[in-house]
Amino acid sequence: SQDRVFNFAAGPATLPENVLKKAESELYNWRGCGMSVMEMSHRGKEFLSIIQKAESDLKTLLSIPSDYAVLFLQGGATTQFSAIPLNLCEPNDQVDFLVTGSWGDKAFKEAQKFCKPHFIWSGKSEKYTKIPSFDSLEQNLNARYLHICANETIHGVEFKDYPTPKNKDEILVADMSSNFCSKPVDVSQFGIIYAGAQKNVGPSGVTIVIIRKDLIGNAQKITPVMLDYKIHAENNSLYNTPPCYGIYMCGLVFEDLLEQGGLVEVEKKNKKKAEILYNAIEESEGFYRSPVEKSVRSLMNVPFTLEKSELEAEFIKEAAKEKMVQLKGHRSVGGMRASIYNAMPLAGVEKLVAFMKDFQARHA
Ligand code: PMP
Repeated sequence: SQDRVFNFAAGPATLPENVLKKAESELYNWRGCGMSVMEMSHRGKEFLSIIQKAESDLKTLLSIPSDYAVLFLQGGATTQFSAIPLNLCEPNDQVDFLVTGSWGDKAFKEAQKFCKPHFIWSGKSEKYTKIPSFDSLEQNLNARYLHICANETIHGVEFKDYPTPKNKDEILVADMSSNFCSKPVDVSQFGIIYAGAQKNVGPSGVTIVIIRKDLIGNAQKITPVMLDYKIHAENNSLYNTPPCYGIYMCGLVFEDLLEQGGLVEVEKKNKKKAEILYNAIEESEGFYRSPVEKSVRSLMNVPFTLEKSELEAEFIKEAAKEKMVQLKGHRSVGGMRASIYNAMPLAGVEKLVAFMKDFQARHA
């Protein structure tokens, strides 16, 4: 609508307009119960209906098999960097990391405190622009798990398929924070999928963990109660006060994604948006550049630079004047980044592409 900007932020990120309107209409008095969701007891029947519906809609969206638990937690994806080794490993257990960007690297550093991680591959020396072919990887046959970040939010590198751990007891663990629910995923390939909500499915404050049930219940003795999956699973994510309003918002987003026809349809829209943006970059003949190898370019986060880097500040300023905001790249890499999550409408990407062409015509 007229008074909204196109928000290309990496997260917290834009939410679907109809979801915001629905939340607005229910804010003051949720479905006639006389109070808002923010004021409800998390143990009352109203909130129970909200969290149960959110969970069951997510299970439908991702076709989550029945031997997996869904947990709504707090502490961001960052907290999972420690919770995962604490729940899956003894201090001397080895784990593998395939690192394709700075989030995977952060997860690695945190895991070092609780187990013995090692890199089977890191893209750092090539500035995180690639994903290796899986056949060439030397996996550790004793590793408890293999960790990947399915979509690196800062570098714009996204796995299009997933490695299979060589050892049959080893599980694949994926940080899907920035491409969660952006496309169908075969959950059964993973032991754990985790994601902060604030990019594709809701506000910050909710972290979703999808875990195969047999992996629950082996936490190290020192594991704080808030990090122990067993506690949260046994209590249906209600061991302590959960982030109620955030869970409610995620639930509205899940309903919206189902109404759109589910993740197959959502992926089609995301592909189309990414395609027109990457095409615009390619067709600019070097005026704009994407550093990422073509086959692994993210559908969600599109980093690009200007050949004339001195024009970057001007680009961001002019775009903001036209109500396209948050296009500055992450401080660690510079340049620009357009995050085009599920809730970014095609019209937003079309407007950005038209602006890029016009900007180039004026500055080439
Ligand atoms: N992993 C990825 C891929 C991310 O993009 C982010 C946040 N940008 C994080 C982890 C950290 O998430 P949080 O801020 O929710 O802890």
